[in-house]
Amino acid sequence: MRLGAARFVAGETIDDAVPVLRRLNAQGLATNTTLLGESVRDHGETKRVTDAYVGIVDRLADERLRCNVALKLTHLGLDLDEELAYSNVRRVVEHARGRGMFVRIDMEQSAYVEATLRTYRRLREAGLENVGTVLQAYLHRTAHDLEELLPLRPNLRIVKGAYLEPPEVAMPRKADVDAAYARLVERMLASGAFVAVATHDERLIEHAIRAAPSRDAFQVQMLYGVRPQLQLQLVRRGHDVLVATPFGPEWYPYLTRRLGERPANLLFLVRNLARR
Ligand SMILES: Cc1cc2nc3c(=O)[nH]c(=O)nc-3n(C[C@H](O)[C@H](O)[C@H](O)COP(=O)(O)OP(=O)(O)OC[C@H]3O[C@@H](n4cnc5c(N)ncnc54)[C@H](O)[C@@H]3O)c2cc1C
Repeated sequence: MRLGAARFVAGETIDDAVPVLRRLNAQGLATNTTLLGESVRDHGETKRVTDAYVGIVDRLADERLRCNVALKLTHLGLDLDEELAYSNVRRVVEHARGRGMFVRIDMEQSAYVEATLRTYRRLREAGLENVGTVLQAYLHRTAHDLEELLPLRPNLRIVKGAYLEPPEVAMPRKADVDAAYARLVERMLASGAFVAVATHDERLIEHAIRAAPSRDAFQVQMLYGVRPQLQLQLVRRGHDVLVATPFGPEWYPYLTRRLGERPANLLFLVRNLARR
């Protein structure tokens, strides 16, 4: 953590994360937090993760932070059993509803998209409104998925997509992904759905700002430690900006995805190492 993960991760415990979240809130930024972890393959462990999320919801609410939670279904048992992941996430979403909090289900590798969207739909059909999920612009299937979800008036976060996927599944060319991203955001705004524009790509953020009928129609979302000056500039322009601010001892896979997106970050870590 000291070597540089702390730039992207708000510590290993919720006690570490709370002051970071409070500082971001004080700068006018909304936040969400995540207990880092994925691919849990042990029943008892999924129960502990679910209990931990229930505790995190209470702590964030008690601290009166402008913060909600984002979680991964494989952290709650999706690799073991979809039904188990459903009942675990439902418990968190129901608990969060009681505390007036929203829960976002992150999107993982393409093999999980079908089950993730099914789980999201089931939660909404069970009457839970305080839940949203994520669509990845790089997947060929996503425009179709969005059309299927729009009748639910979904709260969706649009991202480019963070995983290595084969060309049959995902667009290999960045220009195609960027164009698909812009189309998804336009489609959501035109349909009146709320869209979380989660990107550090200034061109796409400006495109969303121009396309939105009002400032309430969208929120810009960025990652903790990535383009913090841009985050604050957008707040100063009056936009709603959320900083996704994860914590937890299992930060390594998250960090490697951030490094993969921008090899310059590796240089940042190596410099920190050299300074020690
Ligand atoms: C709030 C949030 C939630 C996300 N949730 C998911 C999810 O559930 N599932 C999923 O698959 N992906 C998720 N992602 C990751 C996303 O898919 C991309 O991998 C990531 O955002 C990088 O793409 P970009 O949109 O910023 O555009 P890029 O074209 O990659 O980057 C645009 C510019 O932003 C800057 N930048 C981008 N990434 C970094 C970085 N790591 N470090 C420093 N600068 C950087 C650079 O200046 C770059 O030129 C999420 C991203 C955000 C912001």
